Amino acid sequence: MMAPLAVLCYAWLAGIVAGPSLRPSPAGSLLVMAGAVPLAILIRPRPRLSLAFVALAVFLLAALRNAPTVEGVPENDVSKYNGAGLLAVVGVVEESPALRDALANVRVRVESVEIGDRAVPVKGSVLVRASRYSEGAIGDRVRVEGRLEEPQPFDGFDYPRYLAGRGIHSIMRFPSLARVGHDDRYLALTLIDDLRDRLARSLSSALPEPQAALSTGLLVGLRADLPPDLLDAFNRSGTSHLLAISGYNTSLVVVYLLTFATPLLGRRRGAVLALVGVVFFCVLTGAAPSAVRATIMAGLSMVAILAGRQNHAGLGLLLAAALMTVVQPQVIGDIGFQLSFAATAALISFGTGRNEFLTASVARLGAGKAGWIGGPLQPLTQATLVTVLASMATLPLVAYHFGTAPLAGLVANLLVDVVVGPILGLSALVAVFGAVWPGLASVVSGLDWVPLSYMIAVVRWSAALPLAAVTVPPMPGWVLWLFLGAGGLVWWVSADRSRLAHLRVAWFWVRAGAGSTHVSGRVVLGLVTGVVVVWTAVLAQPDGRLHVFFLDVGQGDAIFIRGPAGKVLIDGGPSPQRLLSQLGRTMPFWDRRIDYLVLTHAHADHLTGLVEVLERFEVRGVVEGSSKGNDAAYQKWEELVGQNGQQRIAAEPGLRLRLGDQSDLTVISAPSSSGTPGSASNEESLALRLSAPAVSVLLLGDLETDGQNYLLASGAVAASTILKVPHHGSQNSLSQELLRVTAPRLAVISVGADNRFGHPAPSTLEQLAKVQTLRTDQRGTIELVTDGQVYWVRSER
Ligand SMILES: [Zn+2]
Repeated sequence: MMAPLAVLCYAWLAGIVAGPSLRPSPAGSLLVMAGAVPLAILIRPRPRLSLAFVALAVFLLAALRNAPTVEGVPENDVSKYNGAGLLAVVGVVEESPALRDALANVRVRVESVEIGDRAVPVKGSVLVRASRYSEGAIGDRVRVEGRLEEPQPFDGFDYPRYLAGRGIHSIMRFPSLARVGHDDRYLALTLIDDLRDRLARSLSSALPEPQAALSTGLLVGLRADLPPDLLDAFNRSGTSHLLAISGYNTSLVVVYLLTFATPLLGRRRGAVLALVGVVFFCVLTGAAPSAVRATIMAGLSMVAILAGRQNHAGLGLLLAAALMTVVQPQVIGDIGFQLSFAATAALISFGTGRNEFLTASVARLGAGKAGWIGGPLQPLTQATLVTVLASMATLPLVAYHFGTAPLAGLVANLLVDVVVGPILGLSALVAVFGAVWPGLASVVSGLDWVPLSYMIAVVRWSAALPLAAVTVPPMPGWVLWLFLGAGGLVWWVSADRSRLAHLRVAWFWVRAGAGSTHVSGRVVLGLVTGVVVVWTAVLAQPDGRLHVFFLDVGQGDAIFIRGPAGKVLIDGGPSPQRLLSQLGRTMPFWDRRIDYLVLTHAHADHLTGLVEVLERFEVRGVVEGSSKGNDAAYQKWEELVGQNGQQRIAAEPGLRLRLGDQSDLTVISAPSSSGTPGSASNEESLALRLSAPAVSVLLLGDLETDGQNYLLASGAVAASTILKVPHHGSQNSLSQELLRVTAPRLAVISVGADNRFGHPAPSTLEQLAKVQTLRTDQRGTIELVTDGQVYWVRSER
């Protein structure tokens, strides 16, 4: 007979699922419960029947708990003011802002609305879309001035409904946001947020992109900086569950802690430490439903260890799910929760004696004898089985929710699972060392970079496979239930053994995570890592030449120059994410240093990315003209420059940055500003000349024709081999006289595909008809290599 507690858990979960469609009447249900419970006590001598009555009562209770209440926007909600024109709201930032490249989504719990000089107290939350660099950390009281709008659906996504599910009925785009105080009730969250931020920062200063973003996603659940195309590859290849903090990561944390703490502290204290550690990990990573479920399960296992009882993993899973739905019934509809529940159920079934049935079947299919499974290939075959099981259990759910069946998932998960454990362990070391001892962090980061790069390569490769993700037509809910029911039946039928699982399950996952339990396997893994690191180092050795990369950062400028004696980045483009990804491809992984940053002028399409470089790289000096911006990114830039001992160098004509024995970058003009802060104009752009020595590049930022003519009149312009076309090739961006004097052999236009300005203008392309012209929107990043006498050009596409 099934354990009574398990039966009650099933009854509760069934009630939660049935609640919304059953809509039981409270009076009737109470009446039935009032009858069922005394009856159950009366017929105690017949335990099965008695249990059935209790289960009925529990089922009804759960159905009542999850019966829908009248939906709608609460009275006095801030959304009453949607469309009411310019106003200000004052409230507290209640979640750590979600970063999306150059933007941040800030959730503000509103306290009052100010219209004119009237302040009205209101309730509810507003989603504020602000700059990544604007103020507003968790717990800050902010005043936001702008227009409240109703959320709109986009790309077939029901955004209003999604936000309503999170209690938000209003959004505000690009308001002016100012911090006016702090709410001390958020102290604990503020501290956790700080810590998470600090760990993420050490990872992002020690690793290039996208490896840094991936390790941050895996370790602390922040995935904001993952490039969209990589995120898409994770989805298509069926490996996106790795990015959600779930049972897998949590059990790895438990096992790491138990492994290190038990020999030092003993079994009981070790378990206490693991319990504390895993709760901390859950909170640190933002407490997503899948992570909470895993933490409750891990907690139950630890309690079982403390009580000296064997851990019942299956019961633990049921209890965890039941407890969570007691607190928050809607969690049953959360995709992450469902996926992690299904995958864990499959894994537990494998750990509980059912595996004999499964391994025997596989052995029959495979080599024909069971001994093969237990032989030297055991870890591999077990890992295969686990992956197959977890994928099979989650496939119907993924197909139902996302309309695709990620068939590549099987292959991808098999190849990727082996590195998750090492990545988590190494990333934790990098993150912690980075905060206390950056030198050591950079050593460990090399070891971390190898499995991270491997994971990225596998995910991209498997996402590109034909039939990687098959589109599934929308299916009604009952098909999903049929699938799940069939799966449950198989599970139930194979359950002829006890449900004991102890920590074997967790141990087993780690063994799968470590790739192999055999020493020889570890040696091979170590050797491969070593060879990769050494070869990468050899291949990335300086070649004594000058490299100029016109980075493909979208609509903006970012030019990275690497000479034998120095590295300079001129402008950073509009997107931190794209700039960092491009630098990650261009620079070797251990190189976290750029000698000089040059800001031609303070417009967002030149500045925004640079701010993030200042945060993540070691920079010696910053060169800028007199141009001043007034947006949040510029304020952050002003705050950061000089903070880590960088020199702030005022650009003047004649200023020379040395890149090698015969190559340097010279400022040829630095127009003075109009004087008003915030009125940065294109005509304030610095003009720069790179000479090496028979090959030269003229870089004029966004200088327009007036500025160009002024520059010509001053005699500062000479013939140049290569011209970076000013101002993204806009209309009238190129003075005919400038083109005549410079007589370039190659023109490069830094421009974003399908940009809203229509750059480059046909008239400018017409002017350049006789010059070879390369565009970053067509060719991707364009690299120019020169030995000082001749040059070569290569491009991404
Ligand atoms: Zn520009």
